[in-house]
Amino acid sequence: MTGNAITGCVIESYGRRVVVAPPGVEPVPCKLRGRKLEVVAGDDVRIEQQHGADDWTVVERLPRRNVLNRSDSRGFEESIAANLDQLGVVVAPQPECDPYIVDRYVAGACYAGIEPLLIVNKQDLPGDPGGLAFVAPLRSLGLPVFHVSARAGSGLDALIEGLRGRRTLLAGQSGVGKSSLLNALAGDAIRATGHLSAGSGEGRHTTVSSAILRLPWGELADSPGVRDYAPPVMPLTNVQHGFAEIAALARGCRFQNCLHLREPQCAVRAAVDGGAVDARRYDSYRRLLNLTRQLDEKRGWRT
Ligand code: GDP
Ligand code: ZN
Repeated sequence: MTGNAITGCVIESYGRRVVVAPPGVEPVPCKLRGRKLEVVAGDDVRIEQQHGADDWTVVERLPRRNVLNRSDSRGFEESIAANLDQLGVVVAPQPECDPYIVDRYVAGACYAGIEPLLIVNKQDLPGDPGGLAFVAPLRSLGLPVFHVSARAGSGLDALIEGLRGRRTLLAGQSGVGKSSLLNALAGDAIRATGHLSAGSGEGRHTTVSSAILRLPWGELADSPGVRDYAPPVMPLTNVQHGFAEIAALARGCRFQNCLHLREPQCAVRAAVDGGAVDARRYDSYRRLLNLTRQLDEKRGWRT
């Protein structure tokens, strides 16, 4: 017989075990019912407590507004977090950032319908403008760019304004200062709840696959799964939708299914040759096409 049923948001996910925060109640550890149910941090779920038992069970995942997916190295799709407003890509002058990974994060956000933004950390270091040359073309696409130093505490107020009232997943390559930034933005809350770094109760001995930290001014999501990132495998003609400046020109191509490689009368290639589209971004698009093709072959053309 079924007891109480309430809804809440998944704030920590450890595979088949999650922590759910119902409104106005302390977060509760839950198991997932059955094998088919898949939830990630950010999912709204219905949870039930069986009569006579203390344990709560997630019985249903409510509809998602969006979900950020990735492809693993074999081409299979995994979900990272759901119902996000923004993806904050953290970069820094050191260690040198791979701009192609940055483009893949930005593309992944676009495919999921999530707004990308850039956080340039370590502003206290003597600048290496060359290594961050990839930032300008992204800024001119309309991505908000925030310059901060997690160490010196500078730029954080402006960043918080950019995160206010929204749920933002922070992503970034190892060493760019993502943990330092989370601490600078939310250190007290992290220490108070044990979320994210230490893990709480249920998850202390397992790896968190994603978590959400609820702060007075907004929500920060974190996942160790985003140190490297490849978007999910998709039909090749869709890859361009992760590159707004390329997708916008595609209407001018002779062929409707133009991949902007060697097709005749391609408006995108013309724009690259003329300098209107950044050559590195175009190169990045071509690399992602190749990666998508390779991952699709690896998973054996299953669709
Ligand atoms: P993560 O791998 O992205 O989580 O990076 P960490 O937060 O662990 O930081 C990596 C290294 O960069 C550490 O040695 C930090 O002390 C350093 N670091 C982080 N933020 C800053 C910053 O704003 N300025 C400087 N100079 N170093 C930083
Ligand atoms: Zn074309």
